[in-house]
Amino acid sequence: MANRDNPSTTSTRRITVLGSTGSVGVSTLDLVDFATSRRDADLSIVALTANSNVARLAAQAKKFRAQFVAVADPDKFGELKSALAGEDIEIGAGPAAIEEAAARDADWVMAAIVGAAGLKPTLRAAERGAAIALANKECLVCAGTIVKRVVDEAGGVLLPVDSEHNAIFQVFDTALPHRVSRLILTASGGPFRTWSSEEMSVATPAQAVAHPNWSMGAKISVDSATMMNKGLELIEADHLFPIPHERIEILVHPQSVIHSMVEYVDGSVLAQLGTPDMRTPIASTLAWPDRIESPSEKLDFASLSALSFEAPDPVRFPALRLVREVIDKSGAYPAILNAANEEAVAAFLDNRIPFGAIAEIVETALIQADKQNVPTALNQLEDALIADSLGRQLAQEAILSRTAA
Ligand code: NDP
Repeated sequence: MANRDNPSTTSTRRITVLGSTGSVGVSTLDLVDFATSRRDADLSIVALTANSNVARLAAQAKKFRAQFVAVADPDKFGELKSALAGEDIEIGAGPAAIEEAAARDADWVMAAIVGAAGLKPTLRAAERGAAIALANKECLVCAGTIVKRVVDEAGGVLLPVDSEHNAIFQVFDTALPHRVSRLILTASGGPFRTWSSEEMSVATPAQAVAHPNWSMGAKISVDSATMMNKGLELIEADHLFPIPHERIEILVHPQSVIHSMVEYVDGSVLAQLGTPDMRTPIASTLAWPDRIESPSEKLDFASLSALSFEAPDPVRFPALRLVREVIDKSGAYPAILNAANEEAVAAFLDNRIPFGAIAEIVETALIQADKQNVPTALNQLEDALIADSLGRQLAQEAILSRTAA
């Protein structure tokens, strides 16, 4: 649970955006631009990072006068240097440069790198006691205990950006956790909510990334289509809020208007609502515990014809079952699941496996992990990295044996 007494909240912020060229990164900078133009806040950019999108990174760096920019792909150093020639902006390349960006003295860091690649940079920012706006859910999935411990020890704060967790964060009464009976994580159901298993098994990458409500990066879009995204969010919620996972329910809500709910023992249900626009949860973390305006479209209740709900289908979406199993097994298992899923999603996007095989690959990796000496606790970063490597290796083997068959 985040430390709500953290005093580092002011309208003046020194900001770093890890993963600034991605969907969440672009929304974050859009919000910074909006708040600055309205003189709502005094915001400056310390560092911006990308994996390989030099053109976008350089344009952002110039526009926001970043002090430091880093690209993870070391081969892109020359291109980045040329793109920023003559500018008073420091540059770096390679994974160590991304960590250096995180280590610079921003007081608010948006963790929006996709996947476990975001773990080390997020920890570097957390070690300094920075406020971490956490979009990169895979960080918590593969090393939640470690990330929370580092944040706590440094006196920082973890502010959930994922719209569901941000919603719960806003309505969860931290003084009364024992009076919470249920957390209800809403899910859009993704693009295949109404598809049959047969139709889903041959879905193409283009169909899988076409999310009905949200515009997001490719990996999270595929995760939404398999509902693994909701599974990863279940693990994330299990780390963020002091409620056992058996009392965290997943509810399909196709309109994505209610972003999640907290039910109290007296039957009261508190929800956070809004249009499906990440600039709202990002604004809530940027200003927290204050509020700032965001350019998101506001809800027009009269035009909402209906809000509907349904239970998720565990047969068509086996990821939800796999996730409950790994939470129970704990230790290295969530990291193995996460890594195997990253490998399977990449193979699907690369047309190496069909959509229907993603969950199968993850399940095979978990079954194979059972035959090994998997640690029952992750105490340090190295443990999480070993679990991550194991998950990737087991998934690669499953992908190879499938494609060889
Ligand atoms: P994108 O794929 O759009 O962006 C990912 C960002 O990470 C890009 O800046 C990318 O750089 C960078 N990146 C990718 N790989 C690496 C690497 N190995 N090292 C360093 N940087 C890397 O993802 P999203 O913005 O959609 O998602 C980011 C995170 O936020 C994910 O964990 C996702 O689950 C979470 N999230 C996203 C939401 C959304 O609406 N998009 C909603 C809630 C959570 P480059 O552009 O150069 O490839």
